[in-house]
Amino acid sequence: MDTILFSQPLSDADLDRAAAIIRGGGLLGIPTETVYGLGADGLNETAVLHIFEAKGRPQDNPLILHVPDAGWLPKFCRDIPHAAYALARRFWPGPLTMILPRRDIVPLRTTGGLETVGVRCPDHPLTLEIIRRAGVPIAAPSGNTSGRPSPTTAGHMVEDMWGKIDGIVDGGPCGVGVESTIIDLTVTPPRLLRPGGLPLEALEEVLGEVAVDKAVVSKLADGERPKAPGMKYRHYAPKAPVTVVTGDAGQSAAYIAAHCEKEAGIICFSEFLPLFAGHEVHDLGPMADLSEQARRVFDALRRFDETPVPEIWAQCPGSEGLGLAVGNRLKKAAGFHIVEALP
Ligand code: AMP
Ligand code: MG
Repeated sequence: MDTILFSQPLSDADLDRAAAIIRGGGLLGIPTETVYGLGADGLNETAVLHIFEAKGRPQDNPLILHVPDAGWLPKFCRDIPHAAYALARRFWPGPLTMILPRRDIVPLRTTGGLETVGVRCPDHPLTLEIIRRAGVPIAAPSGNTSGRPSPTTAGHMVEDMWGKIDGIVDGGPCGVGVESTIIDLTVTPPRLLRPGGLPLEALEEVLGEVAVDKAVVSKLADGERPKAPGMKYRHYAPKAPVTVVTGDAGQSAAYIAAHCEKEAGIICFSEFLPLFAGHEVHDLGPMADLSEQARRVFDALRRFDETPVPEIWAQCPGSEGLGLAVGNRLKKAAGFHIVEALP
């Protein structure tokens, strides 16, 4: 299949062509502020099936519906609580997905067989414009091949999807860099199913008490079913095994330096780069700059697949703010193989 790359700046005609791909049942790589998505008409079962096929994604792993504003919620969801509108007013467009009961118009194919649907309004002008022109919600998971780190540039999308989909819209590098935060509003108290680009603390300001799903912080036992089906799959995984080291940054760096092989790949905070001279190193950003770490984490994991490193060691931020999401992505890449560096 020929893939069209829509390069910046997109013309009015480009936006129409991109919207026509969606309306015609095709597949389009779309930029968002979180990660790039692999989009299709979320109400068209055949188009949605093609998303699963292009990614090699298990059929029970639901997609997120992308809408241009909260006014579209009642078209696709039932029993919408006031909290949903309060969250939308405060955080949309933005990296927050809300789980609500689905209306029948949303195919079970899109929701992975669930009676609920995840909805979000992405903060990217090109994608918002394409959704408006298409006139349908875009269903999109992250645009990576299943199991690979999520794409945060159009170049990553090209690596995984060139020749497999109709088009890729280059909207520049993603400003947030980790996927959306997912909050389930069908339960009381609301439950955090996935930490992401919107910190848990921000949700708590609006919602009060928020429960945190077990799959966010630990590996599930065999056969245990998480509420966000995506959380059960090994994810974001580079080819080499990953070990995550938690604890004070100075101590985790020292622990890694003492335990890693000579050829090991290292993901560390900028401050510790000199300690790992001679290694294949990816700089996660300054240890106090969690936003930068979120922007870099997937590229760091992805780049190791181009090198023959036998093992990867990663420093991990604490769980405040965006640190919860960055740490979760590193820990998932490690299959929750975590070591705590003690003083
Ligand atoms: P991705 O954008 O690739 O992370 O895929 C979307 C994620 O949203 C998946 O991991 C799903 O588990 C989660 N998700 C989507 N819809 C639902 C839903 N109705 N209930 C729980 N999780 C959902
Ligand atoms: Mg994904």
